[in-house]
Amino acid sequence: MTPLLNVDNALTNILADLQTLPAETISLPESLDRVIACDIVSPIDLPPFDNSAMDGYAIHHEDSVDASPQQPARLSVSMDILAGDAPPGQLERGSAARIMTGAPIPPGCTAVIPVEDTDDEWQKGDVSPTPSDVGLRKCLSFGENIRRAGENISAGATIAPAGTLIGPAVIGMLAGIGCAKLSVIRQPKVVILSSGDELVDVHQALEPGKIRDTNSYALAALIRKSGGIPIRLPIAKDSLESIRALYRRALEINPDMIISTAGVSVGAADLVKVVMDELGDIDFWRINMRPGKPLAYGTLQGLPFFGLPGNPVSTMVTYEVLVRPALAKIAGRARKPRIVTATIADDMKSDGRRSYNRVTLRREQDRIIARSTGIQSSGALMSMVLAEGLAIIPEGRNHVSAGEELSVLLLKDLD
Ligand code: AMP
Ligand code: MG
Repeated sequence: MTPLLNVDNALTNILADLQTLPAETISLPESLDRVIACDIVSPIDLPPFDNSAMDGYAIHHEDSVDASPQQPARLSVSMDILAGDAPPGQLERGSAARIMTGAPIPPGCTAVIPVEDTDDEWQKGDVSPTPSDVGLRKCLSFGENIRRAGENISAGATIAPAGTLIGPAVIGMLAGIGCAKLSVIRQPKVVILSSGDELVDVHQALEPGKIRDTNSYALAALIRKSGGIPIRLPIAKDSLESIRALYRRALEINPDMIISTAGVSVGAADLVKVVMDELGDIDFWRINMRPGKPLAYGTLQGLPFFGLPGNPVSTMVTYEVLVRPALAKIAGRARKPRIVTATIADDMKSDGRRSYNRVTLRREQDRIIARSTGIQSSGALMSMVLAEGLAIIPEGRNHVSAGEELSVLLLKDLD
């Protein structure tokens, strides 16, 4: 027997083989959850001009010295500036400009006094005539209530580096700089293959001895969450012709990755191996992990290929540990560490392989408490439904006691 392959080494081998996909140009509204292909640098200052943060009066702040509610400082009103107006001329000392939020600040102005701090009766939205003068009831400091050009971002600064997953705020910023089209990494197309005489599809009746295919549905959802485009092919029978036809069809699609489940365990019909040997260069790995020891990895006619174990939990856990990072690399996504340290609530058993035990997670004061979801059978998909994380029992351990700390791979965001 070949020794078991360490999980980290397996992942390093996989990642070394994979390349990030090329970029494509898409329009801004389509870009949510896509990955920026090259750093996006602002070509302009935002805001593009100094503007008012308040409805009020733009002034020279020195003109408000000693102003108070009891002794307002009086200034003549020489301008009326609305949002959208072109920048006006210089404001003379001793005078004020009535100004709206977002309107350009006249050169020379050093502060804006909110209308509430003046004796003007003007209400928001009121288009009353500009008064001839205004009383300031407050002393202002330099720059108060002025939004400076470039204070949001200055020309030449980076809005988001390559690898950023585009969220709503990035989309807003890109609109702000006039970026209507942008370059993003192409989404990986991933073909999902299932085979087994026992499997029927979701809409089919369950005859005796049959189960429904759950893996291809769960995998499709995982792939979508990783930013890929899943393509599910119909389930093949346990026959050489059926499996060969399925793999040929997968290759015709020319995807960026192919994932099959089942058929890689000892005792499983070895037909999948025969077809893989015909079509590609696949290694059959025995990985030191639980669940998920048998795993096939390599290329099928040059395309990255994963043969995941068929048990539904093994499929999902091997995806989380090995496929998700691989797909992240192809998709150009920056990988974020998703590991936390948690205190184990109950004793846990392992068999000396690195075990990924399904746990719920709860914050308690300054600790995170991890509790087993119950039955840990690799066929019991409910353990993944309940799981918020995978508690990692290191290799070489057969027992972990309640109160010990373990690393936990997060499956969901912690509240
Ligand atoms: P195998 O690797 O073909 O021996 O499959 C291992 C276990 O996974 C068996 O119990 C299969 O019935 C189950 N299995 C295989 N493929 C799927 C699938 N697509 N959906 C649900 N269970 C599956
Ligand atoms: Mg099978």
